[in-house]
Amino acid sequence: MSTTHLRPEAPTQALSTAKLWRPRQVLVTPDAYEEAWGQQIIERVKAMDIPVKRLSQNRITGLKGKDDQESYAIAKNTLAIVNTPAGQLKLTPIPPSADWQFHIAQGCPAHCQYCYLAGSLSGAPVVRVYGNLPEILANLSNYEKAGRDTTYEASCYTDPLGIEHLTGSLAECIRYFGTRESAYLRWVTKFDNVDQLLDLPHNGHTRCRFSVNADPVSHYMEGGTATVEQRLQAMRKLALKGYPVGLVVAPIMAIANWQEHYDDLFRQISQAIDFECDLTFELITHRFTPKSKEVLKSWYPKSKLDLAEEGRSQKRNKFGGVKYVYPRDTMAELKDFIQTQITTHFPFAAILYWT
Ligand code: SF4
Repeated sequence: MSTTHLRPEAPTQALSTAKLWRPRQVLVTPDAYEEAWGQQIIERVKAMDIPVKRLSQNRITGLKGKDDQESYAIAKNTLAIVNTPAGQLKLTPIPPSADWQFHIAQGCPAHCQYCYLAGSLSGAPVVRVYGNLPEILANLSNYEKAGRDTTYEASCYTDPLGIEHLTGSLAECIRYFGTRESAYLRWVTKFDNVDQLLDLPHNGHTRCRFSVNADPVSHYMEGGTATVEQRLQAMRKLALKGYPVGLVVAPIMAIANWQEHYDDLFRQISQAIDFECDLTFELITHRFTPKSKEVLKSWYPKSKLDLAEEGRSQKRNKFGGVKYVYPRDTMAELKDFIQTQITTHFPFAAILYWT
């Protein structure tokens, strides 16, 4: 049950919403074309006057430009309607965020210069949305365990709200989880077009999280997304409709004057969310791997994002892979500062993890 306590003197601010993504081309594979959900996506796209091309095979080709930059631009402007790769129907755990991750799409229309997908996905960053959603949802119950709650994360490979106007898939997921007894959906976004979600029968089984950051990061490094204020107002609307909500502060960066900038961020959050609600925080510091650095350098060659190994500590995973994180002292300072901000402004909220 939601713990929302309204303060009547604080109405939702009227704020314009961010521009919705409009792909330049939409490609459909023969398999996805046969799916009723794929057809539903095609109808949405056609209603936006975007031409749809049915491919002759189940592979996406023809996205190569004359250099990395052009290939990136072509892919990022392409929506492909495909069926989920069979391997993705075998779910994998995703600690600490949730028990399992599942995918309704792969790729994202935004242009964050630190994008997480750079390290986790390979190939052209085309936005693939899945036409066989009913099959994806039907598969989830295989992972539920009797007598305990099971959580599912839907945003590991995409920003599901950034493409929702083209797919309707996030709403369908929310409706599905609303019917489950002990299964819970989690998703996270940097967009704000939530109006179609407000009146869904969510039954408190979906936690809607918004990724936020200090202004120098969100303003200069998160191209194509909603502003932080727009995201906060969207979260406010969802919380007022009884959805559990969350803020993912990520990636936390030790930029110049970071204390001042994160102090401003938490003041801004407390103005937008000025009532008690079911609110969680997830705190993720900036990190990169040799692979993500290489990909990001090719996508965003002019970025000012700090990817210097010298200022970082190395962390190895059990397979020997390296990632670069902030040194222990910096980490401790950031953690102490941000956690104090949360306990001061939001004593009712839960901090789920720091990493
Ligand atoms: S919103 Fe997330 S997935 Fe999309 S570009 Fe930004 S970091 Fe990448």
